[in-house]
Amino acid sequence: MSGLEDHRIRSIETAYLKDRYPRYVGRNSFGKPQAYGGGLPILIVTTDQGASGWGVGRLEPDQSARFLDAPVAGLFDAATGTVEDARVLDLALHDLAGNILGQPVWKLLGAGGPREIPIYSGAIYFNDLEPEAAPAGVEAVVRSCRQDYEAGYRAFKLKIGRGFKWMPPEEGLARDVAVTRAVREAFPDCQILVDANNAYTVAGFLRYLDGVAGCDLYWIEEPFKEKRDDLRRLKEHMAKLGCRALIAEGEDRTERADPPTKYGGYTPAHVDTLYALAAEGLVDVFLLDLGIVGFTRWRHIMPELAAAGIKASPHTWAWCVRPRLVAQLAAGVGNVVMIEGIPGDTAGLDYRSYPLVDGRLRVPDTPGFGLPLIRERLVDSPVPATSVASAAPAAPAAPAASPVTSAQR
Ligand SMILES: [Mg+2]
Repeated sequence: MSGLEDHRIRSIETAYLKDRYPRYVGRNSFGKPQAYGGGLPILIVTTDQGASGWGVGRLEPDQSARFLDAPVAGLFDAATGTVEDARVLDLALHDLAGNILGQPVWKLLGAGGPREIPIYSGAIYFNDLEPEAAPAGVEAVVRSCRQDYEAGYRAFKLKIGRGFKWMPPEEGLARDVAVTRAVREAFPDCQILVDANNAYTVAGFLRYLDGVAGCDLYWIEEPFKEKRDDLRRLKEHMAKLGCRALIAEGEDRTERADPPTKYGGYTPAHVDTLYALAAEGLVDVFLLDLGIVGFTRWRHIMPELAAAGIKASPHTWAWCVRPRLVAQLAAGVGNVVMIEGIPGDTAGLDYRSYPLVDGRLRVPDTPGFGLPLIRERLVDSPVPATSVASAAPAAPAAPAASPVTSAQR
């Protein structure tokens, strides 16, 4: 093989991946069941020298012409990533460049982080409420954790906020507490994260914290829509309880940036708010979504976060491949405190190159993202993305603050 300057784009193909979660995944505070997972489109880029790479992405048929015959070196620079005009091929070009240069993506990025990164299961939804006709109860959530524990996870993110929409408020609060306590009791050596998708009121969430005192929460995610005074009340209450959990925020966005900004589809106002909260010690971890920001932009944002003393955990739900992409980012530029893991398999990919051992995901040494496509297992037509891509909360029945729409949670 040679350098990037010796390769020109010969073809760009579209194909589709299809995920399969290891179990039926129920609801969160506002949305429909996640079920067994959905599909997502990918782009496969091949050069005139026979090199190829692929990445999640979607391209209109008339968009590919402008890239054909373009030199790879004009679209991508190993040191800085994909040029702005070619961002639709961002992931595919990282993979392609790694394959041409014989380097894993994390090395292209500078090998500035650890090769084994802590990961949590992000698939602990409201399985206690399933099936609707005969809900299985708290034990079903413990079973979900058990299944993921056996797959190598040592941290679980429990969805909470049952009283927002699916249960009467008091019952929902009591169930959230019961679930958290049951998981703590069953997994004394594991970390517990909780995520309400902004479904709680401040007062309600403080009562939840009272209920789970002693459970040693590792991380609290989007308990309510982030506001300075409310987060300050939360921190004061946490101090009283001796709760040292990290506060993780910023996945959800109230408006989309179009055209994209430095933060991709997030507005600078959204990110500036997060920075201001972090400067006051009210937010510890930024959750900006991997795809909404974009891989190249994440490469540039991460050092700025690190300089400000803020950790990151790019949001990955709901596609099984995305935690591996975050692992490459984490091993390349560092500063990822923990990866949002999505248990399951994907038709067309083999994840055994990314072993998950004792709660840590290890990035491979193989070139690119280290996930060669198994062509015969790809699907050639779109797969419905279940409920996750367009989930917008319906009007709530319960009197709580309304969570706002996100592209994907
Ligand atoms: Mg979340």
